[in-house]
Amino acid sequence: MTVEPFRNHELDVETRVEDLLQRLTPHEKFSCCVGKDFWTIKPVKRLGMPTFGMTDGPHGVAPHSSNWKRATYFPTSIAMGATWNPSIAHEFGAALGRETRAAGRHVILGPGINIHRTPLCGRTFEYLTEDPFLNKSMVVPIVKGIQEQRIAACVKHYACNNQENHRMTVDAVVPERALQEIYLPGFKAAVEDAGAWSVMSCYNKVNGIYGSENKDLLTGRLRTQWGFTGFVVSDWYATARTTDTAACANAGLSVEMPGGILAPRKKFTPGGFRSALKKGTISMDAIDENVRRVLRVMIRVGLFDPPGMVPPGAINTPEHHAIARKIAEEGMVLLKNEGGLLPLDIQRIKRIAITGPNAHKKQTRALPFIGTGGSSEVLPFYEVTPLQGIKEKIKDEIQFTDDVERADFVVVVAGLNHVLGNDSEGTDRKHLALPSDQVKLIQDVASKNPKTIVVLVNGSPVSMDGWIDRVPAVLEAWYGGQECGRVIADILFGDVNPSGKLPVTFPKRIEDSPAHANVPRTYPGDASGKVYYDEGIFIGYRHFDTRNIAPLFPFGYGLSYTTFEFSDLKIDKASITGNESITVSFDVKNTGTILGAEVAQVYVKDDQSSVERPLKELKGFKKVRLDAGKKERISIELGTDSLSFYDETRGSWIVEAGRFTILVGSSSRDIQLEGKIEYSP
Ligand code: BGC
Repeated sequence: MTVEPFRNHELDVETRVEDLLQRLTPHEKFSCCVGKDFWTIKPVKRLGMPTFGMTDGPHGVAPHSSNWKRATYFPTSIAMGATWNPSIAHEFGAALGRETRAAGRHVILGPGINIHRTPLCGRTFEYLTEDPFLNKSMVVPIVKGIQEQRIAACVKHYACNNQENHRMTVDAVVPERALQEIYLPGFKAAVEDAGAWSVMSCYNKVNGIYGSENKDLLTGRLRTQWGFTGFVVSDWYATARTTDTAACANAGLSVEMPGGILAPRKKFTPGGFRSALKKGTISMDAIDENVRRVLRVMIRVGLFDPPGMVPPGAINTPEHHAIARKIAEEGMVLLKNEGGLLPLDIQRIKRIAITGPNAHKKQTRALPFIGTGGSSEVLPFYEVTPLQGIKEKIKDEIQFTDDVERADFVVVVAGLNHVLGNDSEGTDRKHLALPSDQVKLIQDVASKNPKTIVVLVNGSPVSMDGWIDRVPAVLEAWYGGQECGRVIADILFGDVNPSGKLPVTFPKRIEDSPAHANVPRTYPGDASGKVYYDEGIFIGYRHFDTRNIAPLFPFGYGLSYTTFEFSDLKIDKASITGNESITVSFDVKNTGTILGAEVAQVYVKDDQSSVERPLKELKGFKKVRLDAGKKERISIELGTDSLSFYDETRGSWIVEAGRFTILVGSSSRDIQLEGKIEYSP
């Protein structure tokens, strides 16, 4: 029997794509461009083309899109950002790919990589960071990890979905320089460096045009400039307000989601395509190009290959549990530890009190159909709460008490609420503070017991007015996945030395945050529905540093139970020209008494520039694990792209002649080494 070329895995992908494309009738092509239902694309039975399926979402396979499958609940993206560890990001991507396969899907709707513009954004937990360099450093290994399993990553939400309030309608008015320097580098790297197979267009407008009909974004940048070969899928219902079939298809949208009877305002209906073809507002060539991209991904994920040829899936394996735990271990950030209160010594404690609303709260749904944390929810096989994790660790060795005054230590597990709560998709938080009853609780407990430790379980920065000075220790645990409780216990009792660093600035007050400088114009949008990114590139620490505003905790910050020393900075060249790169090298030494990990961060400052530039910008980092007393020499190469900025007048990236300072340190506000280089074009 002869095998049709599209099924022949020995042929190259493009030959298979063209073969399949020419076999499809126009009607079948149209049906490749829209969901059959909420999560799948209709099979073409005539050709034996199976159903092609997608599932949410960034930190695990979601139950609502996978026939109610339970899956591993990994820490949410902000915790991943806080690991500053691209290799764990890669392991995570691979695990997510395997889980997606085991759930019977081909596309995982993640990672979410929008930049943290405002700490109030309801999806801050679901995005990695405020910094474009950290963003791209983490997104590339995640996408590679997923796709090595022959599962398509779907990088979302392209672009500038930086707030949840009015997300369906708001028009993000963003200067080109901010797009180039802040909001697009993560997407660009996902395409250019990781070869992302799909991208999800955003709900909002970007500079006046909805994401799903934005030709500049979907074709100009994605396809033409970055060489994207995959397909763009609309965010769910994002096409509802767009102009028409032709506008979306001509812009470069391949797939509209969802389809079926639950999506009455669809654009990609057979009738819509036919009438646009008749009117001449769209060509069959344009439709073919959109369909070709879907077919290409179908072939890449192995839709037509024998089962033995695609990587086997796996769900809920000990390996995946271990990865979830490792992300939490490396992502939790020790924010305060006065007098070295932590770690606690089990042998020397008799009584401990544990209180606070998040001590026994699960941050995922416990049962199908109950509760939701937005589209990224996961239904895990288990979730260890902070209370369970601590109990499991100390077993019978320490007595639990409700009497906070008589306890040797009190742990208050506070934070936000991800399930049907105040920290999830769809709306933004109303303010930066913890709920007032939690502030009162912390104050009350701290007034009764000076040894009060606050553990925060939340997915976005909180202000700490009225309590931070009253407690000696604070651990930021984030939504730490199914092993969250165990990892909190490991850190509190010193079995794990914390090594997470903030991927986002914690402001003291919301007014200090750049997006909130001119409310409602800069957030959440004025009466005409526009939100102006007036701050341009001055997002996160770029704003706090340059405008000289003290944050509560700076970008890149996080404590350890050991200490590190940076020394002996060498830059291999004093001056460079053209496209030459430099190698920055230095020693990091663990000067304490226990094993620990440090994130060495390299920032660049342009000493003199014709345009305003941030005081410093992250351009390199490396996480190193060092035994007590051990030293490692770190080398980081910086190309001229580390010195450049986007010049709006010329419409290109440029490097200006002059002097640059190279800053090396342990956080954006703890710079320990400095050197200079001279650049001439
Ligand atoms: C979200 C996406 C998600 C999609 C499908 C949308 O509301 O913005 O992130 O993938 O729904 O659930």
